[in-house]
Amino acid sequence: MDNDSGLARRIHGAGRRMTEQRRVVLEVLASVKSHPTAAELYDMVRRRLPGISPGTVYRTLKVLKNLGYLQELDFGATASRFDADVADHCHVRCDSCDRVDDVPLAANPRLEEAQRILDGWKIEGQRVEFHGLCPECIGAEQQSGQKGGDGA
Ligand SMILES: [Zn+2]
Ligand SMILES: [Zn+2]
Repeated sequence: MDNDSGLARRIHGAGRRMTEQRRVVLEVLASVKSHPTAAELYDMVRRRLPGISPGTVYRTLKVLKNLGYLQELDFGATASRFDADVADHCHVRCDSCDRVDDVPLAANPRLEEAQRILDGWKIEGQRVEFHGLCPECIGAEQQSGQKGGDGA
């Protein structure tokens, strides 16, 4: 039943730093593959901790990130997404519906290389993001194309 012992071990290893709120937020995040935003996570966490406020969820996410329990995915213009999988991997985002999936490729940070080349800059991070259309959106596009009959 417990296919999640890695997470359980990490939570146990954190000892007293892992408060009830932190544990629930991390468990909820680890239970989905959707890379939710903080707002989406708040909606899910609220079902288990009805009294929790959005601010508490946001602060808890920052703390868990600083403790190394989750990744914050910064896609630039859109809201940050969160991922309980802290292993090195890339992400792909759908241009149409904003769905974010995992890509099992190393992100290969080239920060030191960039820092060497870029005079006067202080490099603090690197974003690797694939984007395109997800299978559902490709299916929807093909269906609406068939219905429209494009008049040729
Ligand atoms: Zn899509
Ligand atoms: Zn991920």
